[in-house]
Amino acid sequence: MIPLDEAREYVIGSCSPMAPRSVAVADSVGAVLAEDIHAVEDIPPFANTAMDGFAVQAADTAGADSTPVTLRIAGTIAAGAPGDIVVESGAAVRIMTGAPMPPGADAVVMVERTKASDDGTEVVVDLEVPVDNHVRPAGDDVKVGDRVFTAGAEITPGHLGVLLSLGRTEVSVIARPLVGVVSTGDELVVGPQKLGPGQIRDSNRGTILALLAEAGFATVDLGLVADDEAAIEEAMRRGAAECDAVVTSGGVSMGDFDFVKAVLSRIADMRWMQVAIRPAKPLAFGTLDGTPVFGLPGNPVSSMVSFELFAHPSLRKMSGQTHIDAPRVSAIAEEDMLRRPDGKTHFARVIWRYEDGAYRISSAGAQGSHQLSAMANANGLALVVDGEGLAAGDTCDLMILGAER
Ligand code: AMP
Ligand code: MG
Repeated sequence: MIPLDEAREYVIGSCSPMAPRSVAVADSVGAVLAEDIHAVEDIPPFANTAMDGFAVQAADTAGADSTPVTLRIAGTIAAGAPGDIVVESGAAVRIMTGAPMPPGADAVVMVERTKASDDGTEVVVDLEVPVDNHVRPAGDDVKVGDRVFTAGAEITPGHLGVLLSLGRTEVSVIARPLVGVVSTGDELVVGPQKLGPGQIRDSNRGTILALLAEAGFATVDLGLVADDEAAIEEAMRRGAAECDAVVTSGGVSMGDFDFVKAVLSRIADMRWMQVAIRPAKPLAFGTLDGTPVFGLPGNPVSSMVSFELFAHPSLRKMSGQTHIDAPRVSAIAEEDMLRRPDGKTHFARVIWRYEDGAYRISSAGAQGSHQLSAMANANGLALVVDGEGLAAGDTCDLMILGAER
């Protein structure tokens, strides 16, 4: 057995960020920026009003709090209008949020502090305002020449909004890898028909495809493949040709029909590992024509845990991300979570909640590597280090996999 850290270093270290490419800004959310973004213009591009109201010369409102002042209405400027009505002393221009400040005006009085005459020629203002009141200057958010974002930032809807504001249509990114998924095993069938002797239904392929989709990766379903070297090789070669990474389930342990290991050993540059963890001890990893192949174990819980510990961080790294691991916090066991010493770190399926300033965990159910229901109910994995386990009140590391429940 090799320590988890060593296995992770090897697997994650073998995966590199994808080459940058240009994508439409509209499709860029979730990708990592591969270029610094410099502002080619100011945002906002011109001084404008933050309020509906009247653009005025601030000096004209002096004393208006005690003695309201009457100003002549020189016109109206809506958002999108050129804003070329000059505001002289004694005059005001009716103005809508986002409209450009007219020449001569240096402040805005919000409409709530004004009263226009019925004929619309005059307005009474009962508030003294300082220069720049409710005025948003040009470049108040972003100034021309500013470095707005730095390469390496993960593009969020907010980043997308700024890129759109700057008039960008394309952006250079490290895109997320396209990931192929294949499950292997002669015992596996798909669909609702009555199971034959020894048969079970293929759940891992759907689960892994869903984990990938949830994490924002596009996927290719490479299908269910029998325990047959030629069939496995064909699926692997197709995956390596069509995808940026391939995830397989099953066929990597010590059994006589574990052909994924056999095939990868022959056609790929691979390593087969026994990792000092439970579940998910067996792991195959290699590159086939440069494409990383993650050979996850077939037991459904092992397959998911192995995905989170090895495949997911590697795929995040390929996506150019720097925070590649699930968040980790310290948690308090709410109940005994006992185990036997076996040289391995156990990843217990737990339910966490945050209460009284601490993460608190309890078991999510039966802990066998074939018992997927507990994994389904879990929102975290507790790292129970080698030994006798946790007594209620003990603390341990917790990998957060889902929201509080
Ligand atoms: P293996 O890793 O191929 O030795 O499989 C280990 C265990 O996981 C066996 O009990 C398999 O039947 C089960 N298993 C393998 N692949 C799948 C799958 N795709 N869906 C559900 N169970 C599976
Ligand atoms: Mg198998």
